[in-house]
Amino acid sequence: MTLKKWIFGLTLSFISLSAFATDNVENGIHKIAEKGTVALTFDDGPTKEFTPQILAILKKYNIKATFFMVGMNAKAHPEIVEMVLADGHAINNHSQTHPMLTKLNDKQLQIEVAEPKEIIHKIIGKNTACLRYPFGASNQHVRDVIRQNGMVPVPMGFNSFDYDRPGTDKIVDWVLKNVHSGQVFLFHDGFAKREQTVAALPRIIEGIKKKGLGFSQICVG
Ligand SMILES: [Zn+2]
Repeated sequence: MTLKKWIFGLTLSFISLSAFATDNVENGIHKIAEKGTVALTFDDGPTKEFTPQILAILKKYNIKATFFMVGMNAKAHPEIVEMVLADGHAINNHSQTHPMLTKLNDKQLQIEVAEPKEIIHKIIGKNTACLRYPFGASNQHVRDVIRQNGMVPVPMGFNSFDYDRPGTDKIVDWVLKNVHSGQVFLFHDGFAKREQTVAALPRIIEGIKKKGLGFSQICVG
């Protein structure tokens, strides 16, 4: 390798490194876990059946997590939203009805972004710091509209594939194979039966602790 190429490569890695660094925090809101920790995040709830079971496990291990709620579910179960808040977890926006935000017209997009924020604010008296777009689907326009509504757009995080319900062992193995400092894990507490997520969670937490990592929250407003 010539010196010129080496310097070029070094410059490129420096640029990508700095892009990475600025990408992790926006307006003071952290989008990845703190160094030496991972973040547990839960999408698609709240639900009467599974959110309280997840809350009980998090409480047992004294872990604060981040929930991305679907507006219509928050509206249907305000008492569960209050439980999540009371336990010290961060509550964020995951759209009103869980569509692909990239497929909507401007009016629909505005409703999907703004309505859950209002619903959640009415229940907890606080603004949602972030919106995690469903299916990881976004484009510049979608992210602009999220920002215009006073929220930070966040991607889906590392997929645990718990929504496929592949069996508890598979979820645990897949997650523990991909644990590293700063990792944001995506789980689900809604839209279908989540008994495998509930069963996997204590084993995942024990495994992460065994690797010497702690837990932190993302999207705390
Ligand atoms: Zn979702």
